[in-house]
Amino acid sequence: MANIRVCARLRPANSKEDGEALCFTRSDSQCFTLQDEKDEHYMFSFDKVFYEDSEQADVYEFLARPIVTDAVKAINGTIITYGQTGAGKTYTMEGAGILETDNHKKGLLPRVVDELFEAINFCGETAAYKIKLSMSGIANRAVGETQMNMASSRSHCIYIFTVQKEVANEKRVSIGKLVLVDLAGSEKVEKTGAEGRVLEEAKTINKSLSALGNVINALTSGQQGKANHVPFRDSKLTRILQDALVSTIVSFELHLEGGSSQTALLCCCSPCLCNFSESLSTLRFGARYITYLCLELAASIVDDDRNDVLFFPYEFIYPFMAEP
Ligand code: ADP
Ligand code: MG
Repeated sequence: MANIRVCARLRPANSKEDGEALCFTRSDSQCFTLQDEKDEHYMFSFDKVFYEDSEQADVYEFLARPIVTDAVKAINGTIITYGQTGAGKTYTMEGAGILETDNHKKGLLPRVVDELFEAINFCGETAAYKIKLSMSGIANRAVGETQMNMASSRSHCIYIFTVQKEVANEKRVSIGKLVLVDLAGSEKVEKTGAEGRVLEEAKTINKSLSALGNVINALTSGQQGKANHVPFRDSKLTRILQDALVSTIVSFELHLEGGSSQTALLCCCSPCLCNFSESLSTLRFGARYITYLCLELAASIVDDDRNDVLFFPYEFIYPFMAEP
């Protein structure tokens, strides 16, 4: 299982969008085409695409389950949802609400909690586990009203699970950290018609999202063996994600099976033509995350005459073939 997975999810059109033109054409479970009103085509390819009819359980199985079971083995993991307001980030992360009881609609979070305890129960080891969850509090989450969405989330929401394992008679404690990030909407400020406090918040959000993009670029465009300045300190978001992002890249460079950390990024999109430009920018953010990583790495490995390129897992190389 590759330790960086980038996927896309297209939510179903909602009642407000009834009769609106759509801008996606399905190819298969990894590829689709986005088209604008001038019928320009943009082909995208990801590790997996979750279409309108995908179930919450499908997203959990592919994107989160391997990361959750590894957290119990002290392997760090990060799951990030990215996209414009209303694209389905929170629905994916929480379900229709954090206390969702409809099993069908349950998001990643309640499934993560279930699986963590199950993995501990069935790990077959006699050990003492402590699980800690920290987050800012949904009740306190800043929500501002913009033209994009009546209840658009104006802040990132970060859930940090710490799984501590202590084996009796072994003076050793191992810790796995699992970070779930429901990012604030990635839309451009002008489109939201935001003013005053909401505008100021939007600027901060855009700043931290572009800081995340810069960090990913710096991490993935550095040359092997050369220190590269990675601007983690440019935002609180990137400082929080520092551990997770660094160890993922390092473990990928050593092409370890699994490695010391795993990351999954889900690009959430509306299916409607009216949201075309935001969807394009969301999908390009995701495509950039993997393209830089593979192309730079492949190049550096060939330069070193190690011919290791063949060891790249197929699902890593495949997305570049169809880069728009
Ligand atoms: P975001 O967090 O990206 O701003 P939400 O997750 O709040 O967006 O989604 C906006 C609306 O669309 C919500 O009412 C949510 O229930 C609905 N929605 C999003 N994704 C799906 C989906 N895959 N299936 C059904 N409804 C969805
Ligand atoms: Mg949200």
